[in-house]
Amino acid sequence: MRFATTIIIGAGQSGLAMSRHLTARSIDHVVLERGEVANSWRTERWDSLRLLTPNWQTRLTGYAYDGDDPDGFMAMPEVVRFLQRYAEVSDAPVVTGTRVTRVRRVEGGYVVSTSQGPWRCRMLVIASGACNIAAIPSLSADLPHEVTSLTPVQYRNPGLLPDGGVMIVGASASGIQLAREIRASGRRVLLSVGEHVRMPRTYRGRDILWWMDAIGAMDVHYDAVEDINRARRLPSLQLVGTPERVTVDLNSLRKAGVELVGRLVGLRDGKAQLSGSLANHCALADLKMNRLLAGIDAWVSANGLAERFPASHRYEPTDVGTETRLGLDLRDGRISTVIWATGYRPDYSWLDVPVLDRKGRIQHDGGVVAAPGMYVLGLPFMRRRKSSFIDGAGDDAADLAEHLNLELTRAAA
Ligand SMILES: Cc1cc2nc3c(=O)[nH]c(=O)nc-3n(C[C@H](O)[C@H](O)[C@H](O)COP(=O)(O)OP(=O)(O)OC[C@H]3O[C@@H](n4cnc5c(N)ncnc54)[C@H](O)[C@@H]3O)c2cc1C
Repeated sequence: MRFATTIIIGAGQSGLAMSRHLTARSIDHVVLERGEVANSWRTERWDSLRLLTPNWQTRLTGYAYDGDDPDGFMAMPEVVRFLQRYAEVSDAPVVTGTRVTRVRRVEGGYVVSTSQGPWRCRMLVIASGACNIAAIPSLSADLPHEVTSLTPVQYRNPGLLPDGGVMIVGASASGIQLAREIRASGRRVLLSVGEHVRMPRTYRGRDILWWMDAIGAMDVHYDAVEDINRARRLPSLQLVGTPERVTVDLNSLRKAGVELVGRLVGLRDGKAQLSGSLANHCALADLKMNRLLAGIDAWVSANGLAERFPASHRYEPTDVGTETRLGLDLRDGRISTVIWATGYRPDYSWLDVPVLDRKGRIQHDGGVVAAPGMYVLGLPFMRRRKSSFIDGAGDDAADLAEHLNLELTRAAA
């Protein structure tokens, strides 16, 4: 059986960042990867996807975007090249084509079974991703069989959809991006909207993520948040990365002809039941967006920077129209596809150590898992608000590498 002091599972940005920090501390390790480096970005994203984070924010410990378009947004082949190059310059010991099939605890560490034979390690870093599986509500089981059911992980482009209209459930980053693209291809699109986080692409002349970075919002620590469980469950930001840096929100989608409907609350006898809460959800999202913009304005004033930026302003409230549709017949042939843009979840089916809660979530304190020598990376708001972003992997990995090193030193002593 092969041995490494530390095994990292997954060669996405999280696993590579951890590898970089372990190498810097001369801690012997391997990165086991079921596919290639950046496998999720290669195989689990739709064709047109670009990062919603700007190029300047695509930065990892010791390595950052250095092209001539810092405010642009990478397409997937560029992200893959970026991470591949990071693995190379870091000399990361990645073992590709090696799927972890089981992890179990043994005296002094873990046995990691893989498609290429077993490994043993003392420390284990789970960097296998937070978005392995599309999280679909259980009511999807009642979708009429003549309607095609898809997730954003399966979706590639509008041309591959069956003829006919599309209902997209969920209006966070994935949902609004797919609604925009599919509507632009000429199809009827309904967007079912629940809780969401509205964001303008730019504000006072800068990208909204530039502002969030500047005011420290992306660095907020998990232990400084009142309700961290709720913060970890918040939907993703309604943002899209395009060369034109457009804002895509419910107003722009409605103008483009997307029909906005409320949250999908039931499916019965082929009919979708829709909540009447659309206006409330939108009002709340507007309120929260304005709170963020007010925070930015306050930061500008407090730092005496008002002259440096265009004046503050506010965006139009979300207009959902006056008619609220409460039902939709999914058997009349007008909607042929439903896309569940209702979030993602990790896959821990291989993890045979009792560290998951009732809902299958891994129990951890800022990435330190409730099992000896076990760590996790890349989860939403894991240590910081930016934890699940490329930009968050470096700082989180630095913290956890330090923790891991102290544990090894203590054990040795
Ligand atoms: C649609 C979408 C768009 C996103 N856009 C952005 C964005 O614009 N900017 C941004 O900063 N973040 C974005 N993210 C969030 C985040 O950066 C990505 O989810 C990113 O892939 C997470 O990196 P990671 O290294 O934590 O996990 P992953 O990239 O998922 O890497 C995990 C790796 O583990 C491997 N693996 C999993 N299970 C096993 C196993 N059993 N055995 C061996 N290997 C295994 C996988 O093959 C994969 O390579 C986006 C996420 C999604 C889903």
